This record gives sequence, structure tokens and C-alpha cells, in this order.
Amino acid sequence: MPKVPLVKTITEPARDIKVCREADVVVVGGGPGGIGSAIAAARSGAKTVLIERYGHLGGMASGGLVNIFPNLSDISGKQHIFGLNQEIIDRLAARGGAFYPKKEHWGTTDRKIVDYYLNANMGNFYVRKDPNLGGQERVLYTAVVDPEMLKDELNDMVLEAGSDLLLHSWGTRPIMDGDTVKGVFFESKSGRQAILGKVVIDATGDGDIFVAAGAEFDSELSNKRRTAWLAFTFWMTNVDIKKYEDFRDSQPEKHAELTQEITKLGGYAHYIKGILDNQEGVLWYHSFQIQPESSDTHDVEELTRIDIRGRKRALITYEFLRKHVPGFEKCFIMQTAPQLGTQGGRRVIGEYILTDEDMETDEVHEDTIVVLANNDNGEISARHPTICIPYRCLVPVRVDGLLVACRAYSSTDSVSQYFNIIPPCIAYGQAAGTAAALAVDAGVQPRKVDYKALHDNLVKQGVNLPVG
Ligand SMILES: Cc1cc2nc3c(=O)[nH]c(=O)nc-3n(C[C@H](O)[C@H](O)[C@H](O)COP(=O)(O)OP(=O)(O)OC[C@H]3O[C@@H](n4cnc5c(N)ncnc54)[C@H](O)[C@@H]3O)c2cc1C
Repeated sequence: MPKVPLVKTITEPARDIKVCREADVVVVGGGPGGIGSAIAAARSGAKTVLIERYGHLGGMASGGLVNIFPNLSDISGKQHIFGLNQEIIDRLAARGGAFYPKKEHWGTTDRKIVDYYLNANMGNFYVRKDPNLGGQERVLYTAVVDPEMLKDELNDMVLEAGSDLLLHSWGTRPIMDGDTVKGVFFESKSGRQAILGKVVIDATGDGDIFVAAGAEFDSELSNKRRTAWLAFTFWMTNVDIKKYEDFRDSQPEKHAELTQEITKLGGYAHYIKGILDNQEGVLWYHSFQIQPESSDTHDVEELTRIDIRGRKRALITYEFLRKHVPGFEKCFIMQTAPQLGTQGGRRVIGEYILTDEDMETDEVHEDTIVVLANNDNGEISARHPTICIPYRCLVPVRVDGLLVACRAYSSTDSVSQYFNIIPPCIAYGQAAGTAAALAVDAGVQPRKVDYKALHDNLVKQGVNLPVG
């Protein structure tokens, strides 16, 4: 008999919990998936509450300092993602908080423009080789946004839509009636409270709610994929970038030597130039903490270790650069991300599981909720530049009263990484919020929502869908 380790336990006494809200739709998590869900549900007329554990909205897109909206177009430059994504970018652009290549440059092979983005170290976000053009590099429609403006704009958009908002509120458990979710318990400085809802949308990224609801999920995560890597992101400012680039270009051997040295010390050599117009002298460090084994993003002890190590390495980077590298003499760390970078983990088992095979077809599902550019799969992308995501990827099998609209959408480990980034998650949220409102209106479970009505409502909201 294998030995089962003894775990000491203690019984928590039962107690009455105050119901602080009764809503149609309760959204847990205010990242890309959550804000999409809350805005769409409220605009569709549902009484909506959004709860978020931190004091700001945006999730990784703001608090994780991961402020890049990539793959809005395919490799040819044709835009596919519209809807709320485009609305957020437009609102930010109107106040100088979004930057993207001019429309006439989407798909260009113009060397000068391609080189601009490669030089900003933003190649993997802005530039792709097009196998249909003999491997020539082309510029994509990708936007970068100011994370502070994003937080403010998202507050406005959620509240203008008519959604209720509770920040500093950590969703802990679903309220269950058999296999049906009826609301959530959450913790805050006001203590433990409950919100009742007809549909709950899990937008926690990590699937906190669906796991506790007993929904089936898949947590396979290969360490080879970026989805398994955690990150301690930070921004360095006051860098004389021109001086640094002159040094890099005029003394490549010395530069390579310093790069090796900083890496050996545990610092970070790789940066992204913050090409927002208002960010002269700022460099972004997306410093991945790659573990020999995948990190468990749900283990608080592992999160603590990674945070401590990430901070140490950020400081090593700063001290080394300031002391040894021309251009960095007056630099300092402008900010470290308030939330540790997590991007993978548990994925719900939904009524449809997206797999690698989906990238090899041009199938248009009856319940397509978004068409995404498929830019990261070389020859496959060339043959199939887009992929249709079905609504069923957001609907857990068996458990009712629940939708999942975040990076934990139903997919295999290998395919998840391509379509779990910010713009798709906003789009999943927009579809889930709309579907939840339709379900409440029709008095049916989310899995029974009329696909045609969902399609028509999304099209009315400016989402680009195949003709239904
Ligand atoms: C270093 C790094 C670089 C990346 N680069 C990019 C990039 O350039 N572009 C891109 O598109 N994607 C990028 N990604 C991936 C991207 O950030 C995520 O895939 C995306 O943010 C997922 O959105 P989400 O809404 O599913 O989850 P998240 O962004 O994680 O948002 C989840 C939200 O829910 C909240 N929450 C969690 N649990 C609870 C709870 N129990 N109760 C209440 N609130 C809760 C969180 O605080 C958070 O606000 C990167 C990720 C990392 C780590």
C-alpha cells in the first residue's frame, strides 16, 4: 500500500453569510476575460456584478505590465478582431494611450518599417515571416497600450455599461445547488459575503470557481510552452537608449561579453523598447522565471518563491546595467508589476475542446463567437490564416449556471497557448457576457442559449463573424 502523507486538518464551523448582492450575472475576475464579460452582460441588459481581487481592472494587461494586444490582424495585415477590443484601443488612442502601426502598414514588407519593430525588440509581436511570400517579413496589426490609462478606461467602461463593481474582493467558492452554480462567496476587508446570480462567469484566469464547482478540467502544462512560465515583469526608466544602442552597435564584442556576464549573475539581458509615444527612455523586461519543471501557479509557496527570486533578479539587472553599461548610468526601476505573471494552468473541459486539429481546418462552427488570426504556426498559418472559436469552448460539461471566459477556456495544452492571449480573452468575455444575458432573458441554462441569437447580438456589437 502506498503511504499517504498525513495532513493535519481542522473543521471550519458553519456560519451564516450575508448576501450583499443579487444579480443576473456575476463575473469573477476583472482581467481581459472579465471586463469583456461584465461590459457585454451589462450592455445586454443583465443586472451584472464584477468582482476583482486587486484594486484595478485589466489583469495581466495592466497589473502584469503585459500591455500588448497582438495578432489583431493575420499575416497579410487583414484585421479579424473587432468588437470590444477595437473599442478599448480606440478609446485609449483618443487620449494618447495606444500605439499601433498605421493601417496602411498592416501587412507591409517595407524593410524600414519592419526594421523599426525588430529594433524595438517587438518582432515577435509585430512581425511575421509569410511563407506565402517566400518567408518575407510582414508587419501585423498589434497595439500597445498605456497600462495606467487602461485601468482608468476600463473602470469607466464597466461602470458606464451599468455593471456593479467590487474591487479588493477575492472570489473563493461557488454557491452550489447540486451541479448548478447559484452565486459566489467572496472575501474582502468587509469579511466573507455572498453574491447570488443566475449565471456566474469564471474569468479568474486560473479557474478558481470552476474547480471548486466540481467541473472537469485539464491541467497538463508542458514546461516547453510559454504558458508554463511565470514572470516577474518590471520597467526600467531614464535610459539613454541612443547612447546604449551606439555602444551596442559600435562595440558588439564588449556588448556580447556584458550580456553573458549579466545572464550569468542571474540578471536579464532581454528587454522590449516601450514604443508608446509617451515612454521615451523606458524599457520593458518580461522576465520569465523558467523552472526545470512547470511551476504550479496555484501553489502559494511556489508563487512566494518565484516573487522573491524575480525581485532579486530585477535588482541584479538594475545594479549591473547602471554600473557597467553605457546609457544606463542614470536608470532606475520605474515599477515592478503588482501581479506576478501567470499565463497558463487549469483549463476547463468544455462541450468543445479546441485541439491542434482545429488549426488545420477552415471549419466555421454554427456557434462561432470570434474569428482569430492564426499567426504563429508557420506553414499551417499560411494554409489556414484564421480559426473559428466555438461558444462551446466556454461551456463546462455537466456543471450548469457557469461559463468560463478567460485563458482557462476549453483547449488542449498545445493549442491553448496560441489563443489565450489578451485580445481573444476579451472576445471570449464579450461572447460569454452576451450569452449569459440571453440565458437569463430566456430562462435557460447557458448551454441552451440560441446560437443564432448569440451570433446576431455579437454582430450588432461590431464583432466580426462569418455570415450566419
Ligand atoms: C510575462 C507575460 C507576457 C505576456 N505577454 C503577452 C502579450 O504581450 N500579449 C498578450 O496578449 N498576452 C500576453 N501574455 C498572456 C496574457 O497576459 C494572458 O493570457 C491574459 O491576460 C489572460 O487573460 P485572463 O482574463 O484570462 O486572465 P488574467 O489576465 O490573469 O486576469 C484574471 C483576473 O482575475 C483576477 N482574479 C484571479 N482570481 C481571482 C479570484 N479568485 N477572485 C477575484 N479575482 C480574481 C486577477 O486578479 C486578474 O485581474 C503574457 C503573459 C505573461 C505572464
